[in-house]
Amino acid sequence: MMKISGLYSGGVITNYHCSSRCGHCLYNCGPERSADYIPGFMTAKIFSSLKAQGCRSIHVGGGEPFLNFSGLLDFARIAQECGIAIEYIETNSSWYKDHDETVVKLEKLLDAGINCLLLSVSPFHNEYIPLRKFNGVLAACRTTGMQVFLWISEFYQELATLDADEKHSLQEYAQAFGSDAPGALMRRYSLTMRGRALETFRDQLRPQSYDDLCSTSGPCRNLTDTSHFHIDLYGNYIPGLCTGLAVALEDLGDELTVDKYPVLTTLYEHGIRGLTVWAEGQGWRPQKADYVSKCELCTEIRLYLSNRDFFPVELAPAEFYNEYS
Ligand code: SF4
Ligand code: SF4
Repeated sequence: MMKISGLYSGGVITNYHCSSRCGHCLYNCGPERSADYIPGFMTAKIFSSLKAQGCRSIHVGGGEPFLNFSGLLDFARIAQECGIAIEYIETNSSWYKDHDETVVKLEKLLDAGINCLLLSVSPFHNEYIPLRKFNGVLAACRTTGMQVFLWISEFYQELATLDADEKHSLQEYAQAFGSDAPGALMRRYSLTMRGRALETFRDQLRPQSYDDLCSTSGPCRNLTDTSHFHIDLYGNYIPGLCTGLAVALEDLGDELTVDKYPVLTTLYEHGIRGLTVWAEGQGWRPQKADYVSKCELCTEIRLYLSNRDFFPVELAPAEFYNEYS
């Protein structure tokens, strides 16, 4: 029986649109994603669901939340009204223009009850955003008293040795820190190998035959793990950090039915092997002899189903799958 209840710790995705297109992005965010931003009614609806599941604090992520600053302020104010604490807002600093403007924005956020930012810094981000912008937001945080933590600080030490006014590709990163440095990011970042991360690091993962993969993979019980959950701007609860899969807010706390959630309930009860059997009944056939992980195979099957517009409720947001077309 698959049921998602007792939400512990998680975040709200205000938008999927992003100024960066990081190679490790779990959510396939980027400039090509819709500029949709979480509307006020959805913010209030999500907070109500969170409270019903015992959760009273969240972090904010994206996409890049600062790309719609008035939307972000509205979000923070609704959180105050609803009694939901915001632990921190994740940002890639790309929106930084100058010190004074950034100070004004941070002061508005402080007034709205936000007192901490997570500043993303990594070679993935530095491919699209010069470190100068990160340094600018950091300086404005110090001016305003906004708390900050760097994710991940050890990368800052490395990137600070490069030209802060320039972006640097992973090839340039390899030239500066050794040819193994990009590959080592997989371990140093503790990446979840789904979404774009899987595409970026595919060549470094060991392929397994289709039959071996199916026979050795167990049920996907991570799907009900609520220790680090995300809910997006459309009201999709993303189970088990399995991006492209979704549970409707109104179904949190209840047993998920096979009729409404055939993919999720099959993965939860019978794993990837069960999904392949079920998907073959829908006309899918494996496209390759080898796969680097069950999640690669799962994505292939879901892509097939999403192209047939089978299950909009649990294969969402549809835009996630555009990455593979
Ligand atoms: S990891 Fe963050 S900054 Fe990078 S593309 Fe994804 S949402 Fe944007
Ligand atoms: S196989 Fe699918 S459901 Fe299971 S962990 Fe991978 S992406 Fe998630």
